[in-house]
Amino acid sequence: MTRILSLTLFLWCTLLVQGQEYDVVIKGGQVIDPKNNLNELLDVAVKDGKVAAVAANIPVSNATTVIQAQGLYVTPGLIDMHTHVFQGTDVDSYLANGLGSLPPDGFTFRAGVTTVVDAGTSGWRNFRQFKHQTIDQAQTRVLAFISIVGAGMYGRLEAQNLNDMDPVLTAFMIDLYSEHIVGVKKHHYRGDNFTPVERAVEAGNMAGVPVMVDFGEHDPMLSIKTLFLEKLRPGDIFTHTYSYTNNRETVVDENNQVKPFIFQAQKRGIIFDVGHGGGSFIWHQVVPSIKQGFLPDVISTDLHFWSMNAGMKDMTNLLSKFLNLGMTMEQVIGRSTWEPAQVIQRPQLGHLSPGAEADIAVFRLHEGDFGFMDARGRMMKGTQKLETELTLRAGKVVWDLNGLSVPAWDTEPLKY
Ligand SMILES: [Zn+2]
Repeated sequence: MTRILSLTLFLWCTLLVQGQEYDVVIKGGQVIDPKNNLNELLDVAVKDGKVAAVAANIPVSNATTVIQAQGLYVTPGLIDMHTHVFQGTDVDSYLANGLGSLPPDGFTFRAGVTTVVDAGTSGWRNFRQFKHQTIDQAQTRVLAFISIVGAGMYGRLEAQNLNDMDPVLTAFMIDLYSEHIVGVKKHHYRGDNFTPVERAVEAGNMAGVPVMVDFGEHDPMLSIKTLFLEKLRPGDIFTHTYSYTNNRETVVDENNQVKPFIFQAQKRGIIFDVGHGGGSFIWHQVVPSIKQGFLPDVISTDLHFWSMNAGMKDMTNLLSKFLNLGMTMEQVIGRSTWEPAQVIQRPQLGHLSPGAEADIAVFRLHEGDFGFMDARGRMMKGTQKLETELTLRAGKVVWDLNGLSVPAWDTEPLKY
């Protein structure tokens, strides 16, 4: 009996000691976690790669690393729901295994992003190559919409091939790799019909996943009202919301008014995604939309080689644009964390609930005189700009702009 009692006491003490030990504690930041309705000064503790606690005054005496985050914003690691990261060496390809896609780790952590969703760069023919080459090599969590085109986003020529748009094989591949594939993408089709959308929805129905539509290039132009109210299902995604091109009907009309059916479509459950990219974020569409209360459901970059060196830049620059248009920090963080997590049916992501994988971003909000470019080379002035101080992926510091997580160089002697 005494032995059992002392063993119980020993186990209890061990648990108590372990309970006080954290790998990382982020102290005193403004924690914004829309899923948990948090927007207050709190500490965040991490242990074994998971969020251990979010509370005031978490003791740090037994923490391995303490990060002082006073004056900073602490949020879930961002989810960028529209990117192109199937990088490779096929010089004939546009994005699939091509030079236009980017290796994720080089462009994510420095922008507070811990999860990217590749937007249809691969299709059922080359998804496995994408997995081996990118998903399995990246520290960034990489999920994917796969293209309804078997060849993925190889080129505009291949995107016209209705014979390569196979809903059965697409759904089969999603089923095989359901851990990584979150949906189906339709893109860059120029025909005057909805066939690729219908095929993508068919695959989506078979696999139980949403469809993301890039509706850019139909000739003659097709009605987005028909797309939203008749073709897509609630939960399906319209990306490149703020485009202004010849062959894509706009969301804002020539009198700068958001078209009434847009609100109707959003109410119906169509997800409006930003997908800034190299050509799909035009101030003349964005500014009236936000002013008239049409806010995007998800804020994403459409990251690729041509967008990141132009107006888009990165996720922090994009979030800053919406902050300067009057959206709150909670609104922009929600639309880049918990909202996309729900859209892609990954409720375990995009929040800081205890037990969740510790993907965390820490931002500084600068005040000053800044300029923000759209995709047509036009600039909007702003006074707020976000910068990523620190990013943790699964509890590990993977980006630390100012060395907040490490000791000063002269506080301890150098050792081999
Ligand atoms: Zn894209």
